Amino acid sequence: MNAATADFAGSIVRWQRSHGRHALPWQASRDPYRVWLSEIMLQQTQVSTVLDYYPRFLARFADVGALAQASADDVMALWSGLGYYSRARNLHQCSQQVMDQHGGEFPRTAAELATLPGIGRSTAAAIASFCFGERVAILDGNVKRVLTRLLAFESDLALAASERELWERAHALLPPVHASEDMPAYTQGLMDLGATVCMPRKPMCLLCPVNEMCGASQQGRQQDFPVKTRKLKRSAQSLWLLHARRRDGSVWLERRPQQGIWAGLYCLPVFESRDQLAAALPQRARAGLRDDPAFLHVLTHKDLYLHPVGAQLATTALGKERGAWYDAAQWPGLGLPAPIRKLLSAAAAPV
Ligand code: SF4
Repeated sequence: MNAATADFAGSIVRWQRSHGRHALPWQASRDPYRVWLSEIMLQQTQVSTVLDYYPRFLARFADVGALAQASADDVMALWSGLGYYSRARNLHQCSQQVMDQHGGEFPRTAAELATLPGIGRSTAAAIASFCFGERVAILDGNVKRVLTRLLAFESDLALAASERELWERAHALLPPVHASEDMPAYTQGLMDLGATVCMPRKPMCLLCPVNEMCGASQQGRQQDFPVKTRKLKRSAQSLWLLHARRRDGSVWLERRPQQGIWAGLYCLPVFESRDQLAAALPQRARAGLRDDPAFLHVLTHKDLYLHPVGAQLATTALGKERGAWYDAAQWPGLGLPAPIRKLLSAAAAPV
């Protein structure tokens, strides 16, 4: 640590205590189960959405044992709409591993936590710091932005060596050993600063507790950091959805394969072309197909253009290997991708 950043940790801790976020429901707890659950939900999901899902998940699975005993279908159903469903699968597996291999107690160090399914290095550090006061650095997307600006860190984070170097710099900025009781406030403070002050587009440097030691702010180059040359390549795909209904209003849903889009979730049958969709139906059903308005669903790396095709079918029209008929009362209990859930609800709503 150089003289310029000597009191960085102290500034963050003091700011967190007076200006940071304190009312989020998971902040009231040092229970690793609750902290872990919130950290996994907050990956790639906005706080406002997690505020809705988190209490429902806890009401259904009050502790790690309850989650471990649940069926995968129950877990996916409660996760439905949060996206990034591998998180839910890992969450379930992780709970079972905690029960089977750790006697129902989460390990107390970041190094051990990081061996569990779905817990990466930064998440492990957050749990260990919040729950056990371990002196260990976090480096999620928000914190990378704060630290690369603070340090005017010119190295390209697309390179593994640069990322390693930033981890080392993050470690050097931690509160001193004798102040490790400050770790929860420090870790929370970095998260809060990234979320509420050092934002991607318009950082509010005048309100920032580390403005005077921030390299990017002094140079007026906030937008130059973090440096990352490898950009995500976006792609687009069109998919056709068979929205097959019976006279009683129930809908045909199939479970998706364990790989690929919406892996393991229940879904309307998906096809890569309208011809493929029509070919999957008995000849007599094809004439009655109805093309509903297509809509766009945006994923992180991909724009999906979804084309629902309605059909009124008899009970026996579709093969039973992968799917079944489900009525509206059953849909909330299934893990459905968000756009499919919306489509079914809109179609079932009274006109
Ligand atoms: Fe971010 Fe500005 Fe604070 Fe620097 S001074 S850490 S750029 S908010």
